[in-house]
Amino acid sequence: TAKRSGANRVQEHTPQLDSTAQHDADLAAALRRGLDRGEFRLVYQPIVKLPGGRITGVEALVRWHPEGGPPVSPADFIPVAEQTGMILDLGLWVIETACADAARWRQAYGTAAPRVNINVSARQLLDPDLPDQVASTMARYRLDPDKITLEITETAVFGGGVALNTVRELRELGVGVALDDFGTGQSSLTLLRTCPVTTLKVDKSFIDELNGTAEQEAIATSLSTIARTLGLRAVAEGVETKEQVVRLEALGYRYAQGYYFAKPGPAELIDVALEQALHDRVVQQ
Ligand code: C2E
Ligand code: MG
Ligand code: MG
Ligand code: MG
Repeated sequence: TAKRSGANRVQEHTPQLDSTAQHDADLAAALRRGLDRGEFRLVYQPIVKLPGGRITGVEALVRWHPEGGPPVSPADFIPVAEQTGMILDLGLWVIETACADAARWRQAYGTAAPRVNINVSARQLLDPDLPDQVASTMARYRLDPDKITLEITETAVFGGGVALNTVRELRELGVGVALDDFGTGQSSLTLLRTCPVTTLKVDKSFIDELNGTAEQEAIATSLSTIARTLGLRAVAEGVETKEQVVRLEALGYRYAQGYYFAKPGPAELIDVALEQALHDRVVQQ
């Protein structure tokens, strides 16, 4: 009968839907357990000054090493953490841990300490408590707000509303705000009129295509010019080759990040690089 075939049809589709939903639910539960058990780590990737390549900042990137399993990429677990709201607790852990490392670097290296960039997701920007949480964490570690930059995405603030308000409050605290993957959104330039950012992280796709063609160079140049004209920093993301560095310097870029300079690594590796830089400076003097 029609009724039975309707029921069958539902049954045919249910396992498919179930397996996706079940997978996400399992992953969400594993994330929660992982946070309680301390399975997350932060790694840091240098952000360097051009020319020269001196470290001026680091970006904190979260890593998950589930007990008894292979590491899981943030590209896989961040979306699920966002959907389930787990990102709020995970995000607080990231802020806490990154501020603790920032305070340690400030103590050890003073003015040569790197600025620390922390990624915050769209869901976190919808939480009106975020500015207070950032402020109280910085206060606990006695961190100057200008040593912290929060990286946000264009899509997170595109709708305005609560997220945009959160960004304004963060700026009032004195922390930097960077637009991550800049140029990939629907209306990157429009956003610059309303969203009070301090830094543009020019997306890797624009940097990848820096192969000397006039069009690609014109776009990359324009993005750095826009930043400079507006009084913002431009950071070239995903720099992988010496040739790119040479072009970026010629095109007016003053900051870069990518595997050419360093892959993300544990905080101790940043210390090694900072100590080397301090040593070089002493030798030069
Ligand atoms: P993102 O914030 O744009 O981070 C840059 C990503 O590009 C990182 O991937 C980094 O390892 C990678 N990368 C850096 N230089 C190069 C390069 O030269 N070549 C290539 N091919 N890749 C490069 P990762 O660590 O896998 O993170 C992926 C994304 O996950 C991040 O993109 C960010 O959106 C998100 N994410 C990471 N950590 C956090 C976090 O603590 N909180 C939130 N909300 N999101 C995070
Ligand atoms: Mg980022
Ligand atoms: Mg990025
Ligand atoms: Mg990216």
